[in-house]
Amino acid sequence: MGAKKMMFKIPDNKKVIPTIIFIIILSVTLGTIVYINNSNKLMQTNLTIKQDLDKERNKNDKLQLENNELKQNNDKLSEVKEKFEEENKWLKSQVKKLRASKEYKGLVAINYLDESIVCDLRYASENNFGHRKFYSDALVLLRKETAQKLIKANEEFKKKGYRIKIWDAYRPRHFQQVFWDTVSDEDRKYFANPKYGSNHNRGAAVDITLIDSDGKELLMPSKFDEFSIKASRKNIKICDEARENMEYLTKVMKENGFTIINSEWWHFNDSNCKEYPLLDISIKEFISKE
Ligand SMILES: [Zn+2]
Repeated sequence: MGAKKMMFKIPDNKKVIPTIIFIIILSVTLGTIVYINNSNKLMQTNLTIKQDLDKERNKNDKLQLENNELKQNNDKLSEVKEKFEEENKWLKSQVKKLRASKEYKGLVAINYLDESIVCDLRYASENNFGHRKFYSDALVLLRKETAQKLIKANEEFKKKGYRIKIWDAYRPRHFQQVFWDTVSDEDRKYFANPKYGSNHNRGAAVDITLIDSDGKELLMPSKFDEFSIKASRKNIKICDEARENMEYLTKVMKENGFTIINSEWWHFNDSNCKEYPLLDISIKEFISKE
């Protein structure tokens, strides 16, 4: 009985207090350890974030530098492009001047001398009586003196809003024979005998019409190379409008040193044509000469 009583005995104060103190100290120590541990983890996370941020900042700085470099390069390229375009423009104008001043055996190219004159060299296309391309190139050549007269006439037409359209000008002499052999006996009257040559072979005759400001041909007595009475100036059936246009064309051409033939309203000779030699230089040869 005495021993049992001893087991339910309230512990002695002297033993309880140190135990509680020990527990408190242990808890505080453990708490502190956990706190310190968490703090360390937080600090480490913070540090990692900071390092990441620094890396991003560095990347951003690098990108900005690269961007600035690119912008500078772009500016330089724009400058080079501008210079190149200016030089190109200058070169083009020089080529134009050179082409316009080119003269070979007394012939010049009207295409470069007066760009307002429309060149539709029919014999350099298949749109002609032979339905084949006769001339190698569509460059319109004329005697220098004849070209100057034609440009003056064109200036006069421009005052009324019209311009010249050329169908034929200088014709290498051997084509006179080719044409002669291509057309029927009856139509040969529309071509100069190859034995004597044509004023076209001198570069001193032009086949032309007039166009308005929209590039539309004015009504004339007939189409180009229409081998019939319709092409004749003497045709009494020409309507008033076509006659008026033909007479206006004739008047200005005559005032600027050209003469006419009756069989073809579109043909005009330089009044000095007989002073110039018959030539058989090909258009290709003219182009290839420096
Ligand atoms: Zn002609």
